[in-house]
Amino acid sequence: MNDNNRKQQGKNTAQGKAGAPSATPRSARPRAKGAPQPAPHYRSARTATTGAKSAAAAGAKTAASGKKATGATKAASRQRAAATPSTRVGVAPAARRPSTTKVKRASSPRTPLIAAGVVVVLVAAAVLGIGYRFFWRNIDVTVNGTAYSTRINSTADELLQANDYFGVKPGKLMSVGGKVLDEKGGDRCTVQVNGEPVAIADLATFTVPEDADISVKDGGDATEKHEEKTVDIAPTIEMEGSGAIQFVSQWGKNGKKTVWVGERSGETVDKEVVEEPTNMVVTSLNPKPQGDKKYIALTFDDGPSSYSPDILSILKKNGVKATFFNLGTQASATSATVVEDGHEMASHTNSHQNLPKCDRDTLRSEITKAFDSIEEASGVRPQMIRAPYGAFTSAEWARAGDLISCNVLWNIDTLDWQLPGAQAIVDEVLSGAYNGAIALMHDGGGDRSQDIAALDDIIKGLKADGYELVTVAELMELDGRFPEDVINGTVKMPEDAVLPEV
Ligand SMILES: [Zn+2]
Repeated sequence: MNDNNRKQQGKNTAQGKAGAPSATPRSARPRAKGAPQPAPHYRSARTATTGAKSAAAAGAKTAASGKKATGATKAASRQRAAATPSTRVGVAPAARRPSTTKVKRASSPRTPLIAAGVVVVLVAAAVLGIGYRFFWRNIDVTVNGTAYSTRINSTADELLQANDYFGVKPGKLMSVGGKVLDEKGGDRCTVQVNGEPVAIADLATFTVPEDADISVKDGGDATEKHEEKTVDIAPTIEMEGSGAIQFVSQWGKNGKKTVWVGERSGETVDKEVVEEPTNMVVTSLNPKPQGDKKYIALTFDDGPSSYSPDILSILKKNGVKATFFNLGTQASATSATVVEDGHEMASHTNSHQNLPKCDRDTLRSEITKAFDSIEEASGVRPQMIRAPYGAFTSAEWARAGDLISCNVLWNIDTLDWQLPGAQAIVDEVLSGAYNGAIALMHDGGGDRSQDIAALDDIIKGLKADGYELVTVAELMELDGRFPEDVINGTVKMPEDAVLPEV
C-alpha cells in the first residue's frame, strides 16, 4: 500500500512538472525536495490504515463481546476492505492538481479528506457493531427446560410459531353460557416468562429477553366474544300477613344487572347484580279499631239490584252506614242513592269474572271498566275492590295492583246466597261479630229477600252488643296501621315504581 502511494505520488509529481521550467526527469528528487509534503500523506495513509485497523479491531472487539465471534471477524474484514480504497481516494485528488500548485498548498486539503474517510470507516464499523449487538445475533433461552436459540428481539409469538408451539394443545372456545363452540378455538397456549404470565393478547408484542426461562403449556379455554349490557331486574312480589284487607305496603322498583350476550352463540347470561330490585309487597291486615268501643262493617255485594232500595231503606231507618261493592254492569241510579245515603261505594269488578283465570288485559279492564261505570252512575270513582269469590292472588296484584287501593275480603260469611233463612243469617252475623270484623252479605245476584228480612235484626242485635256499624274505610282509619291513601282511595303508584313480572 505504501509502495502504491509512492508510485502514485511520483506519477502525479511528474505530471505536475511537465509544463514547469524546473522540471527534472528524476522523479525521486521532487519527492525528496518536497519531503515534508508527501510525508503527511504517507503518515495520513498510515494513520487511516491504522485507524481502519483500529476500527476493525474495535468492531471485532465489540463483536467479541457477543456470543458469536464469526460475525465480528467478518465485520472487521469488511471494514479493512473498506479502508483501502478510501485512502486512495484521499490521495488522488490532491495529486491531480496542476504542477504550479505549491506543494505545501496541495497538502492542505488532503488531510480532511483522509480524516473523512476515517470517520466513514469508524461510523460503518460502529453501525455494524451496534447492528450485530442489538439486531442480528441470536440469544439463548430455555423453554420447558430445553435450551433454544432465537434471534434477538424475537417476539414470544415468533418463538412459539417457529417451534410449533412446543407441542402444546390449544384450549376450547366456550359460549358465554358454557357450551363448547370450538374444541380448538380457545387460547393457543399458556406462557410464563421468568415466572410471570404473559397474556395471550401480549404474545405478539412481548420481546423474549436473553436467557429467559420460558414455560409453555396447553392453552386455557376461552370465552366467545360478547357484548356486555346493563339490563333491568324486575321486582318480584311478596305477600305478607293474613287479613281481610290487602294493600300494597311497598312498591316494586327495578334493579340493574350486567349480562353478557354471546356474539356467536346468541346466549344471554347474567353476570353481576349492580343494584338489587325492590320487591313489591302486599300486606294483609284484619282491622283492629282502637279505643273502648267496638266496630263492625256490613258489606253488600253483586248489587245494585231491585232488592237494594229496601236494604238502603233499612240502613237509613237505623242510621247506620255500610259498604256496597257494586258490579260495573249493574251500576245504576241506585248506586247514586248508595252514595247519597252516605254509604261507602266500592267495586266488585265489572262482570263478576274469576280474575285469576283472566288474561292481563281482561283483568285490568274488569277493574277499570267497573270504576268507570260506577263513577258514571254514582259520581264517585272508587279504588277499593272486592274480587269476585275473593280470588285475587299475588299474580293479580302483580298484574293490576296499580289500579286499586285495596282488595277487601271478609271475616264473617253469612252464606246468604245459600238462602239459609233470615234467622240463620242473623245468627251468623251476631255469633261471629267482633271488634273490627267485616260481614259479607249480598244486595244483588239472586233472591235477596232473606237479607232484607234479616237486616233489621242484625243491626239491632249488633247495637245491643255495643257495636257501632261503620264503613270499611272507617274500620281502617280506626285501626291506625293502614296508609292514608289506602283509606282515602287515592293510591297512585310512584313514577319510578314498576309492577313485578309474572
Ligand atoms: Zn259476588
